[in-house]
Amino acid sequence: MKQVKYLIIGQGIAGTLLSWEFRKRGIRHLVIDQVGKDTSSFKAAGIFNPITGRKMVKTWMADELFSGLGDYYEGLEKFIGQKIIYHKNIYRPFNSMDEQNDWQGKMSDGIYSNIIRSVHNSSLGIPGLLDPNGGLLIDRSGYVDLPTLIESYREILISDDIFVDEVFEGNEMTVEQGMVNYKGISAEKVIFCEGVGATKNRYWQHLPFRPVKGEIIELEANFQTDLIVNRNVFLVPRGSSFIAGSTYDHSQLNNEPSESGIRNIKERLNKIVDIKYKLISSWAGVRPATYDRRPFIGLHEKFPELGIFNGFGTKGVSLVPYFAIEFVNFLLGNQRLTPEVDIDRVLRK
Ligand SMILES: Cc1cc2nc3c(=O)[nH]c(=O)nc-3n(C[C@H](O)[C@H](O)[C@H](O)COP(=O)(O)OP(=O)(O)OC[C@H]3O[C@@H](n4cnc5c(N)ncnc54)[C@H](O)[C@@H]3O)c2cc1C
Repeated sequence: MKQVKYLIIGQGIAGTLLSWEFRKRGIRHLVIDQVGKDTSSFKAAGIFNPITGRKMVKTWMADELFSGLGDYYEGLEKFIGQKIIYHKNIYRPFNSMDEQNDWQGKMSDGIYSNIIRSVHNSSLGIPGLLDPNGGLLIDRSGYVDLPTLIESYREILISDDIFVDEVFEGNEMTVEQGMVNYKGISAEKVIFCEGVGATKNRYWQHLPFRPVKGEIIELEANFQTDLIVNRNVFLVPRGSSFIAGSTYDHSQLNNEPSESGIRNIKERLNKIVDIKYKLISSWAGVRPATYDRRPFIGLHEKFPELGIFNGFGTKGVSLVPYFAIEFVNFLLGNQRLTPEVDIDRVLRK
């Protein structure tokens, strides 16, 4: 019988960073994951951006989430020995002079001073970029290469003999007297980090997930910039190519890119750049989003031996580091969960 304190199910970004937090504290754990690339983390653009939404406001908890984000991923980079974080400014072209004036005003009130690098009142002059009204240059932004992070971290788990590549089967699990037993493994708690897989897990099916499919295209383009351009669609330079996306579809929850998805991205792209490009590839995935766009974190109301760390929706890169630390502190009895992420809110409703 292999004995651990925690058994983690799923090694997307959520399971990976939870394991990293256990490791930093010397807590014995084991990870079970069905290795494959049809997961949200493998399909993600990996962007982190403190200013989001149509109304362009600071994202929820931006100050807390973004202040230590760079250091966090840089710490992981050192540990896995691979580059994963790419700090890049995001440039958002203004739609109108009114929007430009609005942002000139906002810059003076201080709320945005640590996340806005500059407000441009005329075009940056990059050939092919459509920004006649200037635009906003956002700081504390960039992207994380999630596949490299997950695969490199998995190698370490394997070499430490704490990784099992298989599908976790709930009917093989028994929960009794504060212990969970599963195929020769005994753990004090099992923490489920299954992404959209949670919607098929009988212990978590009652949680109101609202999965959303997203598609991305990869392009070869004659466009010279190191900025991420983002207005209603993102265009991210990735070495010799660019990626662009994404889409939000609640009806077709599959991992297949579609003609309509590709068309939709291209139409939006044509509003921010006027460039010639060639489509190299496209892909799709399903994000584990929730009814109120906040994560699902906590322990099961009937079986406190079972926990969940999930529901990171469209923002896994910026949410998971902060909440992995919070959740581990909670499990160790040192901190309460932020009410907006605690699964108790669903029961209280
Ligand atoms: C097209 C697209 C673009 C995106 N862009 C961004 C972005 O720019 N920025 C951002 O922050 N986020 C982005 N996201 C969202 C991001 O991908 C998610 O927030 C995040 O990856 C969720 O991670 P996770 O670990 O919870 O789930 P997942 O990555 O899905 O990982 C779950 C893991 O659990 C495993 N698993 C599930 N059930 C079982 C089982 N029974 N047994 C064994 N293993 C199991 C799966 O195999 C998988 O490895 C994007 C998503 C998509 C689809």
